[in-house]
Amino acid sequence: MDTPQDILRNLGLNSSALTGGTLIARSPIDGAELAQVHEHTVAQAHAAITRARQASLAWRDVPAPRRGELIRLFGETLRQHKQELGRLVSLEAGKIVAEGEGEVQEMIDICDFAVGLSRQLYGLTIASERPGHRMMETWHPLGVVGVISAFNFPVAVWSWNAALALVCGNAVVWKPSEKTPLTALACQALFAQAVQRFGDAPAGLSEVLIGGREVGEALVDSHTVALVSATGSTRMGRQVGPRVAQRFGRVLLELGGNNAIIVGPTADLDMAARGIVFGAIGTAGQRCTTTRRLIVHESIADQLVQRLHKAYASAPIGNPLDSGNLVGPLIDRASFDAMQAALTAAREQGGKVAGGERVLADQYPDAWYVRPAIAEMPGQTDVVCHETFAPILYVMRYKDFGDALAMQNGVPQGLSSAIFTNDLREAETFLSAAGSDCGIANVNIGTSGAEIGGAFGGEKETGGGRESGSDSWRNYMRRATNTINYSRNLPLAQGIKFGE
Ligand code: NAD
Repeated sequence: MDTPQDILRNLGLNSSALTGGTLIARSPIDGAELAQVHEHTVAQAHAAITRARQASLAWRDVPAPRRGELIRLFGETLRQHKQELGRLVSLEAGKIVAEGEGEVQEMIDICDFAVGLSRQLYGLTIASERPGHRMMETWHPLGVVGVISAFNFPVAVWSWNAALALVCGNAVVWKPSEKTPLTALACQALFAQAVQRFGDAPAGLSEVLIGGREVGEALVDSHTVALVSATGSTRMGRQVGPRVAQRFGRVLLELGGNNAIIVGPTADLDMAARGIVFGAIGTAGQRCTTTRRLIVHESIADQLVQRLHKAYASAPIGNPLDSGNLVGPLIDRASFDAMQAALTAAREQGGKVAGGERVLADQYPDAWYVRPAIAEMPGQTDVVCHETFAPILYVMRYKDFGDALAMQNGVPQGLSSAIFTNDLREAETFLSAAGSDCGIANVNIGTSGAEIGGAFGGEKETGGGRESGSDSWRNYMRRATNTINYSRNLPLAQGIKFGE
């Protein structure tokens, strides 16, 4: 059961879906063709949105705890197929096996979270200023939720959105990355299994649109899609955000990050080094929360950088399906080229670069494996302020804690951040209003690997959206404020007398 075809067939997918299409799915592991997937036309996209709208009209009347039952069944299905789906993520996105399965575990976790939530979609009761009146808030489904997702979390991002959107009473239309269509088809097949066990879910509750930008734009421009939740580059968000706003649709943006770790003079350097290495080279630097900047106190900088070089030298690079390897390939050649361009710029801007070169080219001429790079910079130069989606760690030194904070906040992105310190004042300042300006701020733990229970997302060019835990479910519902008069009078608000 090794090939993607075997896995997909086992997950219930018809093999005709994998041949004769125009979208060639390739594995970044060796560049081999995995399948020829059929793309949707814009007209087919509109038809799918219409089906989803019809489904949402029926689904919104199903009691929320019953909707939760569908997600419970989906979570069960994912548990049964965790290894296969995880392997498909590895094959299609190039993640090491532990990370591929870890991504499926995130799907399972959000399903569990959403099931509990299906009994907790609470509104408030509010004190009214008028006698014999009661005020309250009611939360209703939005209708159709569109999800656009990136290649690097090909299954988890959809599930974070879909699990919440579905228990909230919506239908979901998903446009996955054109680089990872197979995992999307697999998710849809698994969801169909859950729907079958559930029994009476309306058809069209979950639709998948295969294709590139045009298909995504159909979702973005459709007035039937109440919310567009888009995960990807800041460049994509700049296009999608204003287009959705133009039609007064809602948008939830999860865009690029440029995440830093500050290491203070009192830090536990063993912990810091482990946190930095995992954050910087895990998933070959292709996580939105990847550690891209290290801001280290000058008194410990030499020691820490030396440790990092040592850890980098011993991190095995290679086929992510081999359990010994920790660093898999970049997604494609464009990604490799962008990394090389960034390293050239770093050198031009005074950086001292180690690593970054292509490796394993003889063995995998059509794949793009690189040695993760460490670039010691004279300061936070222009190239450091951009997200290059590859394993480059820029290192900057600081003397004064205030300067470290200013550097941490001095980039356009605002996703994840961390500090390693045993100084209470530094830790609390970092978490205070005057500290990190990111959506995620951690102490003595790195920037990547967020848990489902918290709200996930970031500020500034990261887009401002929040997904997953806490009260993110509210993004998928609309709020109605209700006032009920149970008196025999009609008192007006603000004590206004009108025609009496
Ligand atoms: P990308 O922006 O190239 O593509 C993302 C998705 O947007 C794809 O499905 C693509 O087809 C679609 N798309 C692109 N332009 C569009 C348009 N004009 N209209 C509609 N759809 C459009 O991103 P990528 O290379 O797949 O992923 C890497 C990026 O995603 C990085 O910047 C990373 O930081 C970011 N990311 C962010 C998060 C987060 O939660 N903040 C999570 C994962 C990835």
